[in-house]
Amino acid sequence: MAHKKVTLGIEIGGTNTSFGLVDILGNCFVESRIPTRLNESPESLFERLFKKFNKIYKEKSSEYELLGIGIGAPSANYYKGTVEYSSNLNWVYVNIKDMVKKYYDLPIVIANDANAAALGEMKFGVAKKMKNFIQLTLSRGFGSGIVVDGNILYGSDGFAGEIGHTIVEKNGRSCGCGRKGCLETYVSTGGLIRTYYELLSKSNEISVLKEFRPSELTSDLILKAAIHGDKLALATFENTGQILGEALANVVAYLNPEAIILSEGIAVAGDLLLVPTKKHMEKNMLNLFQGKVEILLSGLVKGNVAILGASALSWHEIQKKKNIS
Ligand SMILES: [Zn+2]
Repeated sequence: MAHKKVTLGIEIGGTNTSFGLVDILGNCFVESRIPTRLNESPESLFERLFKKFNKIYKEKSSEYELLGIGIGAPSANYYKGTVEYSSNLNWVYVNIKDMVKKYYDLPIVIANDANAAALGEMKFGVAKKMKNFIQLTLSRGFGSGIVVDGNILYGSDGFAGEIGHTIVEKNGRSCGCGRKGCLETYVSTGGLIRTYYELLSKSNEISVLKEFRPSELTSDLILKAAIHGDKLALATFENTGQILGEALANVVAYLNPEAIILSEGIAVAGDLLLVPTKKHMEKNMLNLFQGKVEILLSGLVKGNVAILGASALSWHEIQKKKNIS
């Protein structure tokens, strides 16, 4: 039987660490996950992870040829193979590459989760034929991966693409980074909830969500209310789309992408977010770019997006090497 060529994708998330084997077409095999425990050492996390992976993989290893490992993690440094100052994981400086090599001596590539998601879109999603695009993950945080000429833009230290921490409002909302007015504090699941309450405090409108305490309200509930025509919930998406669209007009001026892809979190609202975002982006954009930049929703299958992205990091390196040799 022919061996399936695969890479192992590992995504270290705040709640779960997922893994799976992915072939060049984006088919996912041997998929599973373990909970990510807060304050657990990275050594212990990888020990648990590979124990579980090996248990599943050993029985089936004759079916596969494992070519490499791709790892997506918050605050990951592509150049050094490290995770640095990750507040999500409570890790200060961890050399992930060295740690994983002890288990599998294969080519290992690590990048932050947003960059992994961007490569996932390029290999397996809606950006298959694109060379210049931006991928935005709009969940609890605002992740961004920038692809220029077919490669991720890593920058001089490996941390390029922090669009979520560009300031869109002088002396605006407090951000987790310690500054005020960052885009992430407006365009994220938490940002959407804050906007809803701000609008509620200034309005006499009756809203079905009025009875919810702040700790109970979620972005999904706001979406449901908007779908049912709740005026404040609709205004919340309009307002969020305006802030995102205005910010993207600047991003386009820097990077001249052919598309901007939105995924996860508040992006599941689809047109409710897309339409105002597009409108305000076009309104504020330099003539040169008007009508040329598409805003699209992620094309990755729901469920294993993170694994596909992490695996794509490895496939991308393999293909780059092939092109050089
Ligand atoms: Zn910030």
